[in-house]
Amino acid sequence: MKIVQNHPLRDLHTFGIDIKAKYFVEIRSKNELQELLKTPTFQNNPRIILGGGSNCLFTKDYEGLVIRISIQGQEVLDETDEHVVIDVNAGENWHEFVMDCIEKDYGGIENLVYIPGTVGASPIQNIGAYGVELKDNFLELEAISIDNQQFRRFSKEECELGYRESIFKNELKGKYIINKVRFKLTKNNHKLNFSYEALENELKKIKSLNEDESLTSQKITLKDIAKSIIKIRKAKLPDPAEVGNAGSFFKNPSIDKSLLDKLKEKYPDIPTYPSGHPEKTKLSAGWLIDRAGWKGWTSEDEQYGVHKKHALILVNYGGADGSDILDLANQIVASVDEKFGIRLEKEVNIY
Ligand code: FAD
Ligand code: NAP
Repeated sequence: MKIVQNHPLRDLHTFGIDIKAKYFVEIRSKNELQELLKTPTFQNNPRIILGGGSNCLFTKDYEGLVIRISIQGQEVLDETDEHVVIDVNAGENWHEFVMDCIEKDYGGIENLVYIPGTVGASPIQNIGAYGVELKDNFLELEAISIDNQQFRRFSKEECELGYRESIFKNELKGKYIINKVRFKLTKNNHKLNFSYEALENELKKIKSLNEDESLTSQKITLKDIAKSIIKIRKAKLPDPAEVGNAGSFFKNPSIDKSLLDKLKEKYPDIPTYPSGHPEKTKLSAGWLIDRAGWKGWTSEDEQYGVHKKHALILVNYGGADGSDILDLANQIVASVDEKFGIRLEKEVNIY
């Protein structure tokens, strides 16, 4: 473990903002993590925990310690004909873990394929895509307390996983460093979810089915789901290796019936989705931003803007300042609020 000074962070997060950390350290084992917490640099400075940096926006140089979690490895703890229980260390790459599970025919997380980042960050916002969330297959995690330097386990309930939320984004923000995550996956009787229209359509294409033929789980494999989602995501989302971004910048809002009725009167084509809450309806933040006129918006210097194919994604075309992107995000929030009476919440972590 080596703590270095004035370390560039541009290649360590997906927005590609050119900033530095006053101190930086990469942690490769549980022992190193314990050791780090005892160092004066850790104790005397503010700190940020970093995985793959795919859900962060840095707005200035960081005057503290950035800790990159790179602890590798996984262990199968239990296996029956029906299930497998696996512990995965926090620094493992999420997408590679998902692909490895699909290869072994372990089911449950296939809809979360091609999400960038690390396993350790996956519970932080209870990552979700195409109708599946981390919490559907998550058992517990282990993390070290920054206050008392003790490792402890958090059960699923204790993590308070919600829609792109967890206790680690709220009450315990910055208080624990996750070092491993436990999953329970299916080995038979996979519960496939192809409820999202784009996924259903893509699956029909790869299975050469007509539009009126229905997809049945028996015909679909984990590999079919992964292949379809990767294809959709490659076509729709900007690749951070080419255009800096952190995925969806805002969460989809859920609203109550009285506001929904008003909006439907004015915008009869407004798309609505079940929110998981009986009295709330989920709206597409991307649709609201698009209708407020922001889709494809580009700054005068052409350095940053709103992605042309996806209004939820703010992009750095090259040399943007993080603070410019944050200003843009705040303008979008104000504009959507003015037009629809809805205040969008940021999903990305701002530093
Ligand atoms: P980072 O960005 O490094 O960190 C995110 C937060 O977690 C920070 O607050 C950090 O301090 C904290 N953190 C990270 N690791 C630890 C740890 N070990 N212990 C404690 N705290 C930690 N998200 C989705 O939910 N669904 C998607 O479909 C999706 N698609 C995306 C597509 C693209 C193109 C991009 C760029 C992003 C997408 N995201 C998506 C967002 C992002 O990939 C996820 O939130 C991912 O889990 C972030 O992982 P990370 O390792 O990069 O976390
Ligand atoms: P989409 O399919 O164009 O749909 C737009 C929005 O409508 C989605 O955000 C989704 O909400 C919601 N939606 C669509 N069909 C739904 C259904 N059957 N039931 C409930 N909600 C439905 O979305 P997209 O932007 O291409 O993204 C596809 C999936 O990947 C989504 O789940 C999205 O969250 C995920 N994704 C996430 C990020 C990120 O950074 N967080 C980036 C890219 C994609 P939900 O978002 O709640 O699913």
